[in-house]
Formats: sequence, structure tokens, C-alpha cells
Amino acid sequence: MKNKHVDIIPIGDIDDRVLQRLAITVDRCFGYPCRINEAWEIPSYAYNPDRKQYYSTLILKELCGGVKNDSIRTIGVTSLDLYIPIFTFVFGEAQLESHCAIISLSRLRQEFYGLRSDDTLFMSRVEKEAIHELTHTFGLTHCYDVNCVMHASYTIGDTDIKSDQFCKLCNHTLLSKLEAMMKVI
Ligand SMILES: [Zn+2]
Ligand SMILES: [Zn+2]
Repeated sequence: MKNKHVDIIPIGDIDDRVLQRLAITVDRCFGYPCRINEAWEIPSYAYNPDRKQYYSTLILKELCGGVKNDSIRTIGVTSLDLYIPIFTFVFGEAQLESHCAIISLSRLRQEFYGLRSDDTLFMSRVEKEAIHELTHTFGLTHCYDVNCVMHASYTIGDTDIKSDQFCKLCNHTLLSKLEAMMKVI
């Protein structure tokens, strides 16, 4: 367990302040220090010219392909607008009980909705989405409690209603998953 890190991988150009803040949040939430990696280039292979968006699952696959030995989890952070075929867009994607997650900052900015920029709101959305997607990788599914960070977000309103905290049940489940990992690693 010791010396394991969460790898944060910027995909494209991401503001360092966002990455630093995320590193603190992820460490606080999951108990593993974060390592901010060199930025990846824009993944042109995932671009869909008809949708003018990037296919999230393809990028996730690349992230999973390059996992380091001392990495407990990897999260990709991009400003590109992501999609999976069944949805118009996604805020992020992760597979249950897997190693990698990805989040998109694109639709977390007020400017995307034609509104004046709001750094505090933007950052709180980034934190919620990152915690949410990483928690999927620890095996938790969606929660019915609208205030719980594991509640699904299909619109930015869903993200704003929920908090960055876990409900009692999700908190308990996550802690037992993290504890179980500490025993086997
Ligand atoms: Zn989810
Ligand atoms: Zn919950």
C-alpha cells in the first residue's frame, strides 16, 4: 500500500491551479498522494468530426494501457468535450473496479452555458466530478441520494445539487473498499 500514488494526467493544456487543487482533494478523499504527470497531447484518434467531440472510452483505454507499477489509480483531466455513443455528452467516465477514470472540464464552466465565469463554482464542480468518477473505480455505483456525490449527473443542475460528500452508506462502502485494498496490496 505504501508508496502508491494516484496519477493525474492532464490531456491537453490544463491550468496548473486546477491540477494542484485536484491533487489535494483526491488525497484527502482517498488517502493516496497524487502525482501530476506531464500533459498528454490532444488524442486526435478519439475525435469524432460529426459530433465535434472526443470518444471518452477510447481515451480511457489509452489511460489504462500506460499504468505505472506504483499507481493505485489514474485520472485523466481534459478540457475536451467528451461523449459515449448513447449520450449527447458525458462529464466523465470510469469503469467499475478498474484502474482509470477521466473527467471533462468543458461543460463545468459557466461560460459553456453563456454565463459569466465563476471560478469557485467551476472548481467545486471539478472536485465533485473527479471524486465521483474515481469512486466508481473503487466499485461504487450510483446513489439515489441527490445530495450524495455518487448521485448520477446528467445535467449540470444534477452536479450543482449534489455535494462533494458521500452519504452515510456510500461513505461506509468506500471505506471498506479502501481498507480491503490496503490489506491485499
Ligand atoms: Zn457515475
Ligand atoms: Zn450515496
